[in-house]
Amino acid sequence: MRNRQATSTLFELSRPGRRAARLPACDVPVQPLADLLPARLLAAAPPDLPELFEGDVVRHFTNLSTENMSVDTHFYPLGSCTMKYNPKRNERLASLPGFVDVHPYQPVSTMQGLLQLLYELQGLLAEISGLDAVSLQPAAGAHGELAALMVAAAYFRDRGEQRTEVLIPDSAHGTNPASAVMAGFKAVTVKSTPEGFVDLADLRSKLSPATAVFMITNPNTLGMFDGQIAEIARWVHDAGGLIYLDGANMNAILGIARPGDFGADMMHFNPHKTFSGPHGGGGPGAGPIAVRDRLAPYLPAPVVGLAADKYFLDADRPKSIGRVRSFFGNTGVLVRAYAYIRTHGPAGLRRVSETAVLNANYLLSRVQQLLPVPQGPRCMHEFVASASAVKAERGITATDIAKRLLDYGFHPPTIYFPLTVREAMMIEPTETESKETLDAFAAALAQILGEPADEVRAAPASTPISRPDEVRAAREPVLASPSSTGA
Ligand SMILES: *Cc1c(COP(=O)(O)O)cnc(C)c1O
Repeated sequence: MRNRQATSTLFELSRPGRRAARLPACDVPVQPLADLLPARLLAAAPPDLPELFEGDVVRHFTNLSTENMSVDTHFYPLGSCTMKYNPKRNERLASLPGFVDVHPYQPVSTMQGLLQLLYELQGLLAEISGLDAVSLQPAAGAHGELAALMVAAAYFRDRGEQRTEVLIPDSAHGTNPASAVMAGFKAVTVKSTPEGFVDLADLRSKLSPATAVFMITNPNTLGMFDGQIAEIARWVHDAGGLIYLDGANMNAILGIARPGDFGADMMHFNPHKTFSGPHGGGGPGAGPIAVRDRLAPYLPAPVVGLAADKYFLDADRPKSIGRVRSFFGNTGVLVRAYAYIRTHGPAGLRRVSETAVLNANYLLSRVQQLLPVPQGPRCMHEFVASASAVKAERGITATDIAKRLLDYGFHPPTIYFPLTVREAMMIEPTETESKETLDAFAAALAQILGEPADEVRAAPASTPISRPDEVRAAREPVLASPSSTGA
């Protein structure tokens, strides 16, 4: 039974004179506001605020918080997003007063602890990446891509090289070409083979003296590790270009393979994915970047430095591309990432990835009995099933299955991405799920595929709203509750 407090707005719940707190009678002379403030600053009428009892407010927001699915309430196999369980311990550590109560303008001598953490995190990310220097400033993965490509542009400009193109496989995340264009490059698409790897002949035909960067996601968005990477890196380097690794899928290779060792010159991390920062719904992320030595002078400034046992903000970097974010970056996410990395240690991080890959392969083995997985039968941390046969035979699309999964209490996988697989359903279970959960998900999928097509197409039946017209919902949002509009 849905609760009135969740389905009504606070304004509808409001009753004149209702209060969360009653103050004692005033025991000093009351001064009219007009005596204290100039008339032009005074409102003609009090603001129209809802009047409520504290319990109404708590129920309203608590109920609202359960209208949606979350990692804390449901299995959330949203491919490429790494929706793993976020340990609550990291929340506690990130809210220690030394982290949350510092002001970015206070003297650095009074926040040595925070700076030490950030300095050490730079070192940890350098080690995990196999690269030399790190900037923690970018605020998200896509922002890290942009910052690193700006670094590449500055590097080539400094060398007097006219390189204008960024080559990107067709299976890439949409942010890759967007970042390339925002950084002033032309994005050139490189084809994939039917197996989902870089088409070497196509790459070779597009490499030229204009090539600045080859951007690769490895493991890629199909959940496959492209073993041609060393050879690709050799070609790109021979052509004078740089290799950018989109590190959003690091959850598959922590402690097993390092991008710097397989040819990458720069990369970004998604700490909110790999290192368990709560994300989704547009929540805060971070996008630290790691680069090779020769690119380090161009990193955003300041970076956190250490000299004579004191941590400092190193802004004296004449070749830097400058700031890409205020202050030190999204510190809260970075503190959680640090806590996560230090808690696991090197052996633990490797186990994270081994378990993520094991879980994905187990679920793949179950799902491919139900839906084709074109790039199967094995994967890294995620895999992409296709509903195109079910669509052709029964008129059930990836969207229909995704919506029906909601009725079974599962957050749907990522659908229609990557673009190279028709009716794609990209499933990433992560390492934090049990065999029972994976079995239950596979069982729900089997049951859905056995249901009458009409029923699946009408889903979801049990959620707060059913199937909105997504375009209209975005263009003409209805912000009042059904009870007030009479709908
Ligand atoms: C999530 C993701 C990004 C973008 O990261 P954001 O933090 O969402 O900006 C880029 N590439 C891939 C492959 C991703 O999965």
